[in-house]
Amino acid sequence: MAVKNPHFPNATVLGYPRIGRRRELKRAVESFWAGRTTADDLEATTHDLRLATVRHLADLGLGADGAAVPGSFSSYDQVLDAVALLGAVPERFAGLTTPEGRLPLDAYFTVARGAGDAAPLEMTKWFDTNYHYLVPEIGPDTPIGFVDDRVVREFTEAAHPADGGPAVVTRPVLVGPVTFLLLSKPADGAPEGFRPLDRLDDVVAAYAGVLRALAAAGAPWVQLDEPALVTDLLGVPFDEVADAVRRAYTRLATDLSPAPAADGATERPAILVTAPYGDLRSEAGDGLALLAGTDVEAVAIDLVRGAVPTGPVPGLETKTLVAGVIDGHNIWRADLGARLAVLEGLTAPGTGPGAGALAVGTSTSLLHVPHDVADEPRLDAGLASWLAFADQKVAEVATLATALTDGRAAVADQLAASTAAVRTRAAAPGVVVPAVRARAAALSAADVERAPYAERAEAQQAALGLPPLPTTTIGSFPQTAEIRTTRAAWVRGELSDADYTAAMRAEIASTVALQEELGLDVLVHGEPERNDMVQYFAEQLDGFATTVHGWVQSYGSRCVRPPILWGDVSRPAPLTVEWTAYAASLTDKPVKGMLTGPVTILAWSFVRDDLPLGDTADQVALALRDEVTDLEAAGIGVVQVDEPALRELLPLRTAAHPAYLDWSVRSFRLATAGAAPATQVHTHLCYSEFGQVIGAIDGLDADVTSVEAARSRMEIVPELADAGYARGIGPGVYDIHSPRVPSVQEVTDLVELAAKSIDPRLVWVNPDCGLKTRAWPETKQSLANLVTAANTVRATL
Ligand code: GLN
Ligand code: ZN
Repeated sequence: MAVKNPHFPNATVLGYPRIGRRRELKRAVESFWAGRTTADDLEATTHDLRLATVRHLADLGLGADGAAVPGSFSSYDQVLDAVALLGAVPERFAGLTTPEGRLPLDAYFTVARGAGDAAPLEMTKWFDTNYHYLVPEIGPDTPIGFVDDRVVREFTEAAHPADGGPAVVTRPVLVGPVTFLLLSKPADGAPEGFRPLDRLDDVVAAYAGVLRALAAAGAPWVQLDEPALVTDLLGVPFDEVADAVRRAYTRLATDLSPAPAADGATERPAILVTAPYGDLRSEAGDGLALLAGTDVEAVAIDLVRGAVPTGPVPGLETKTLVAGVIDGHNIWRADLGARLAVLEGLTAPGTGPGAGALAVGTSTSLLHVPHDVADEPRLDAGLASWLAFADQKVAEVATLATALTDGRAAVADQLAASTAAVRTRAAAPGVVVPAVRARAAALSAADVERAPYAERAEAQQAALGLPPLPTTTIGSFPQTAEIRTTRAAWVRGELSDADYTAAMRAEIASTVALQEELGLDVLVHGEPERNDMVQYFAEQLDGFATTVHGWVQSYGSRCVRPPILWGDVSRPAPLTVEWTAYAASLTDKPVKGMLTGPVTILAWSFVRDDLPLGDTADQVALALRDEVTDLEAAGIGVVQVDEPALRELLPLRTAAHPAYLDWSVRSFRLATAGAAPATQVHTHLCYSEFGQVIGAIDGLDADVTSVEAARSRMEIVPELADAGYARGIGPGVYDIHSPRVPSVQEVTDLVELAAKSIDPRLVWVNPDCGLKTRAWPETKQSLANLVTAANTVRATL
């Protein structure tokens, strides 16, 4: 089948959830891993899921034959798919590939999840989303070629379906070659100075092979995602990125012919390059001009996060501009009238960017939002009417496209409904709560200041009487199957409140007894009552709603249901006091109260789009501040406020960092500064590559900061000391991600190392993170070794 160089469809979405409306993919993949089903079973399930998805998208208004439906499926991760396509498998997995370099299905998952001594690819955050991708490892000798034509087969399976059902011409979606390499890290053993980008020509040659194969299969369009163009955080200067983009797209777009030859065949599909998650233009350089200067046929820009371009952009006049006016990253229904005005501005003669054609799109893939609002019968009807999940967003895109081609009158009803929803939302009770606004408005600088640290440290020592090198944990203890079953029964109404409380109390009592027996110095209640460190708080605070089916892929088969933060936040009743006070009643040792910080609560929720993030953070912080006061009143002298997401929320553009760090640090201080000097405030951050946030960590002004440090062998301690940090520091002494029990010697060495690089009086001894994913046997043994090691080093001080 041969195609003529086609026009881009007038409406599209950049990608769609892959997990399935009822998490069918999760279930199928996990039963394959468990050995309950075969690779063929899994292939059959994903085949059905893909066909159902593309047909559903066609029916929702994208149409079946214009390449408006993205072919954006992945069985695990789109970056891993690119690794598989290229056969770019690290040395340690080389034995798993076929002679041609292909990864069979089980090996594909092994690269993602590791096996025995072979560690999986590292996982890290995908731009500023809560999706996590696998980091490719590329060295000078890593094999790179076009070895796996899965993307071609998936195009064909939808375009010529074997089941005799409706055909859909999709637009295959691939991670772009430049982004692929910018997200890669050098393979182990790569020579000093080698950068994955050095392999650009090889990757581009392989992609040229993919494009030829897609053209031969009849694909009119292909989508190459290049979000690396919207971030400053990858550490490569703009000029080098620009050079790579020019080289890559000269080879792919200029050297390969999109025009039909005499026999009607083309060398490649038309190319759409997307730049989701932010602004292509920054102080560093103009990524929009860069893409406009290539020979690709279409460019998609994010007009939710990015600025609307004004003035002509040379080169764009020959291309389609896919205007990402519908937010793919958040769940609010769009103000269609306002979005239409943006679109009209783009086509205004003289003032617009001068695109050859305009199409309506989403700002990002819809991967980051749940499937369907209609699937949430328990959501308040008012709130539901303000929301748009993936399916509603497809309809919004289609409506805007109709308005552009046929005029506003053609979609008058939809526009009116959208305007009405925006109005009711703004006026709905709970969206603006005057008392909450008044309290935030009355805050002053004094509200974020505590007494000087020296004074606090003295008062805390007098109150707590801790030994040197105090031992503690990060908060959670094993969330056993039994705890989860008990909670599930309670949620279903099969267990009474009283029985549930009794079960959780029993768990707390045994956890406290164990900590006493182990000889830990600062105890915790163990968090058995928490389903999740954010959802637990969201369920109790006013201003949040939670969903039943609102699952979003976090990584691989892991999904989360982010709460929806829709209104002004306040705390109708204490959140944690009862459990913590119960634990404290069982022991003479200090018990640490555990709270999740404002930044982390926002980072792992869908946030409102009608209030600046910093203002919302202040509201959450005030609710937590009241909780701290109540904990103190209940006799709790140590409170930890976890902020594992502090670094996660760092904006992609460095120019936005100061403002972000300002409000995020302020909100933490607002949450904690109401504590008396004698109350010891802890914080916990889940990582140790502090880089750009090291100053902010000091700025939090916590009395004790615990961080992950075991894998980097305490590297963080001297770094923090150099940055001027001079309060308590708990560098993790063992990694909690595996069941491995650290030896006494190993922990002793690490504690000694820490005590050498900073004043030993500041050092705390604790694991890297919470223990909820661990089982009891290794937890007990590991903590026993931790306490022995702390005692050993203490004796030498
Ligand atoms: N207190 C939480 C726990 O122990 C912290 C988890 C986290 O840092 N992500 O589980
Ligand atoms: Zn952690």
